[in-house]
Amino acid sequence: MATAAHVVVVGAGIVGAAVAEALALDGLRVTVVDRHPPGGGATAAGMGHVVVMDDSQPQIALTSYSQQLWDQRGPSLPAAGERIVCGTLWVAADDEEMTEVFRKRDFYRDRGIAAEALTGSALYKAEPMLRAGLAGGLRVPGDSVVYPPPIAAAMLDTVRQHGGEVLIGCGAKSMTGNQIRLEDDRVIYCDYAVNAAGSAAGLLTPGFEIRPRKGHLVITDRYPGFVRHQLVELGYLKSAHSSTGSSVAFNVQPRPTGQLLIGSSRQFGDTSREIDHEILSRMLGRAIEYMPAIASLSTLRVWTGFRAATPDKLPLIGPHPEDPHLLLATGHEGLGITTSLGTARLIADHLAGRTPAIPPEPYLPWRFQKTPADDLHREAGFQPIHST
Ligand SMILES: Cc1cc2nc3c(=O)[nH]c(=O)nc-3n(C[C@H](O)[C@H](O)[C@H](O)COP(=O)(O)OP(=O)(O)OC[C@H]3O[C@@H](n4cnc5c(N)ncnc54)[C@H](O)[C@@H]3O)c2cc1C
Repeated sequence: MATAAHVVVVGAGIVGAAVAEALALDGLRVTVVDRHPPGGGATAAGMGHVVVMDDSQPQIALTSYSQQLWDQRGPSLPAAGERIVCGTLWVAADDEEMTEVFRKRDFYRDRGIAAEALTGSALYKAEPMLRAGLAGGLRVPGDSVVYPPPIAAAMLDTVRQHGGEVLIGCGAKSMTGNQIRLEDDRVIYCDYAVNAAGSAAGLLTPGFEIRPRKGHLVITDRYPGFVRHQLVELGYLKSAHSSTGSSVAFNVQPRPTGQLLIGSSRQFGDTSREIDHEILSRMLGRAIEYMPAIASLSTLRVWTGFRAATPDKLPLIGPHPEDPHLLLATGHEGLGITTSLGTARLIADHLAGRTPAIPPEPYLPWRFQKTPADDLHREAGFQPIHST
């Protein structure tokens, strides 16, 4: 009987854990290494909004595919993963944003995603704490929220149950598709390696522009029923997608505990974990502008985290252009929790030689590193290491 291929995954965040789990379930021998405990990094810092986004066709393809995968595994998620399907309510401040509501609604519906435009009065019925004078909104009922660290931990348990190893406290100093050199100079040899090191991925695999994009979040005390949906201002689309400067947007999430998570901010060029009080106060100011009663809530904690941003706002998923045994699974920016499950399927399908459910090309790292090897790889195609 052929021995199963050995794959090392560097990074035990939600993306690395999901990839490792998918490979272990496919019968591969998996080793996960992480410098820190599972689900630290951006996975612990993120908001956990599982959301279908329509910035581009590849983005909606990956987010809606991933959301279907979250729906499928919903009942088997650990209780600590706190999944609730609360839907997203995109808030339109004025008539111009209402035009965007209708465009977005039609775009989603054309792709089979439920979406409902709300008038001003329907908006206040849905979310009475919003400030007066807003124009309406768009409800996307299938979106959900999760708390990802215990979900990542459960995925790694599955890896162990399938004979895999999870090595915590092991930093990787360098990696290729066939060997990982750890910081203590031990070397792990493997058939394939996956770089899922989040915003640090570029340090291990140079040649790609993966920039840390800092974000702040605030969590409040318990106020059950204060908000019912994940609330996001439609202006978020403009601020989140600017690729320079810093921005804030109204983005509030109900937690099953009754707490509220308040976001969000985006900054390039600040790689310190420190709270930036200027941007924090802008962020909270924006939240209060949309929901004045937030000013009276007591907050418990503020933290920061780093999204892994690429120049075209799409993740890097698939083989390295010059080392086909080295796979990248990073660059998910503000959507890595949402798209972790789709990413895992794309990587697993690639290694198994299966046809993926969505076209993988838009996410391939080739798009940034066009080299002569690119054409060779394209001509040769990749040999699957096993088929199912
Ligand atoms: C403020 C904020 C809000 C967000 N909100 C959302 C949201 O609502 N919805 C959503 O979908 N996404 C959201 N995101 C994005 C999401 O959190 C990330 O895209 C996702 O967590 C990325 O997961 P990851 O596994 O790739 O990276 P990480 O969770 O950062 O994991 C990478 C792991 O690699 C390890 N590592 C790095 N270098 C090495 C090395 N050399 N050797 C060994 N290990 C290494 C790290 O220790 C870490 O554990 C948000 C992010 C932030 C910061």
